[in-house]
Amino acid sequence: MKQSSQSNQSQQWIARNDKVIAKTYGRYPLVPVRGAGCKLWDADGREYLDMLAGVAVNNLGHCHPRIVAAIKAQAETLIHCSNYYNIPQQIRLAELLCENSFAERVFFCNSGAEANEAAIKLARKQSLEIHGPGRSEVLTALASFHGRTYCGISATGQEKVKQGFEPLLPGFRHLPFGDIEALRSAVSAETCAIMLEPIQGEGGVNIPPAGYFQQVRNLCDEKGLLLILDEVQTGCGRSGTLFAYEQEGITPDIMTLAKGLAGGVPIGAMLAGDALAEHLGPGTHGSTFGGNPLATATGIASLETLLGEGILENCRAMGDYLCAALETLQQKYPFISAVRGRGLLIGLELSIEGGELVKTALTRGLLINCTVGKVLRFVPPLIITRTEIDQAINILDEIFSEVK
Ligand SMILES: *Cc1c(COP(=O)(O)O)cnc(C)c1O
Repeated sequence: MKQSSQSNQSQQWIARNDKVIAKTYGRYPLVPVRGAGCKLWDADGREYLDMLAGVAVNNLGHCHPRIVAAIKAQAETLIHCSNYYNIPQQIRLAELLCENSFAERVFFCNSGAEANEAAIKLARKQSLEIHGPGRSEVLTALASFHGRTYCGISATGQEKVKQGFEPLLPGFRHLPFGDIEALRSAVSAETCAIMLEPIQGEGGVNIPPAGYFQQVRNLCDEKGLLLILDEVQTGCGRSGTLFAYEQEGITPDIMTLAKGLAGGVPIGAMLAGDALAEHLGPGTHGSTFGGNPLATATGIASLETLLGEGILENCRAMGDYLCAALETLQQKYPFISAVRGRGLLIGLELSIEGGELVKTALTRGLLINCTVGKVLRFVPPLIITRTEIDQAINILDEIFSEVK
């Protein structure tokens, strides 16, 4: 009796969801209402181990005390003001980002797609002002993901996000990821930039061959192209270093960030060197909410915590631990074809459909997702522990053992 009235809560929310929420998401039957660390609880009090972390957003886990404190303190002081004014929290977060990256200037917005919009606008404007008209094409990768705005879906190398929305923004071409020759032969007199994810997240956790990014950097230098790295998913510690480019021995010209930057408060950022950023002068771009006091105060707390509490070290160690545990499962189950990842951005490629396994995992208290139909993706909070990983592996082992 108690059980059925309890599970009613989630059912009721789901019924209401189905009446008023736009149908853009294929939602799992879960109603999360509370989170702490790597745990989530649903409307009926059931506990989940969250290895999706808001899709690589909750890098410090749910409701980290320093994130909560920053939000509370800022909410009581100043929540929003116009970008017509100078915003101390925005300035401080930009300083922190510049001190810890190649960049010298930051433009703040509210999402990954918007950060990429800003990057493309900057690249085209710089190209026009330096090289003259007719040079606006951006090369991106097949299987890439750059967001859902028109610029985002035009840049994205996946047909499924574009269908029905044509005409798209012109000036994008998609090449195989990790193939330097394909990229090199695609560069033309019209090309102004190459935009890539250091590791393709939505595209199936695809890691390029060693040395690829150095070759891309050389190509860009040789042809006077800008290298834009979309670190919306790989950035903010996810790959085991603050930014994934650090592990490639290169620096980009432009980098975009969002997801993990402010502990779950919406934020995006486009970072560039000083001379380049100069090309977006007063009045050329903007955002009402971009970099507002609440979001950037939270970003400061998030970045300081990430840099100051051994979290990157934990990310690398737990990433290795999780990969090793998944490789052990691979030995046991022939339908696991590959384990790959860096830091805590990890994919488990299957030779079978992964969607049903994700649903089963949910019923056993484990939250993961599946990209491109057959890659289970693990992007847990970077504070995850060995015990929690063991728990996840036990659940996966149980689910995999039931596969017919
Ligand atoms: C999630 C993601 C985006 C889009 O970010 P939004 O905040 O949803 O607009 C862009 N690029 C990459 C690599 C992403 O993973």
